[in-house]
Amino acid sequence: MRLTQKNMAMKRIIIWILLLLPLALIAQETESTGNNLPVKWEELTAPDFIRAVEKSAGTCVIPLGILEKHGPHLPLGTDLISVRETALRAAEKEFTLIFPPFYFGQIYEAKQQPGTVAYSPQTVLTVLQETCDELHRNGIEKIILVNGHGGNSSLLPYFCQIQLEKQKEYAVYLFRPQDSEEFQDQLNSMRQTDWDGHAGETETSLMLAASPDLVHIDRAKEQSGKNQERLNSLAYAYTAIWWYAQYPNHYAGDGSYGSLEMGKLILENEVDQLAEMIKSVKADQRTIELQNQFYKDSKHPIKTEQ
Ligand SMILES: [Zn+2]
Repeated sequence: MRLTQKNMAMKRIIIWILLLLPLALIAQETESTGNNLPVKWEELTAPDFIRAVEKSAGTCVIPLGILEKHGPHLPLGTDLISVRETALRAAEKEFTLIFPPFYFGQIYEAKQQPGTVAYSPQTVLTVLQETCDELHRNGIEKIILVNGHGGNSSLLPYFCQIQLEKQKEYAVYLFRPQDSEEFQDQLNSMRQTDWDGHAGETETSLMLAASPDLVHIDRAKEQSGKNQERLNSLAYAYTAIWWYAQYPNHYAGDGSYGSLEMGKLILENEVDQLAEMIKSVKADQRTIELQNQFYKDSKHPIKTEQ
């Protein structure tokens, strides 16, 4: 009797092993075909990197932040932190590679504030271009720039424009989200301030969703984020000192009104749009085709049909 029970127990174990073996093999297969690959460039091993480039269809996102004051209550790396969170969440929906923290950009207007790191324009352009070149040398054909810093809003379209100066074997795409009316209405219905800007209600909300432990909302009223209106006599003119004239504290708005609910709405909206963009960039063949045609045509403009 005891022997029979032992035999039956053994049989059950063998049956279970036979049943579980295919599952274990599938799990191993998943691992080796790279379905669980990290999206962060710096976290991949070299062999996994090859699989990740393949899986990303040759795409990589560079989330661009900066090091600058964000009012009295948000960290210096706010833009870097929030833009990376957006990119990482989008990559979970639509696989792509995410480049390590990148904090080279345009930030001269905050040089009077502690913690700002402002490289020369030449360095900024050189580092960004060489980063793109290095990405391409590693098999990336399509580079997606995702901007988290307001001060970069002229620099990055300009960087895209100068890609046509010399022939490139890769394409650079800049993420340009467009909020739906529905989203805007929803956001506006939540707003408590009507003078919102740098480190104000929306940006503080975004940080509450992206990295709440770094937000010191109780300090948000320690400095003024009000427009100082020190250049109001100028008409139809743009001048570099405009921001300092209006917001010398490098703070625009009142971050004390930030809310997690608003932050989640903003973050999810950005993530959805970015995931959709990554998908469309992966499928896009036309940009590189047209670039190649353009470079060819621009070598001999005299032959361009008139
Ligand atoms: Zn910011």
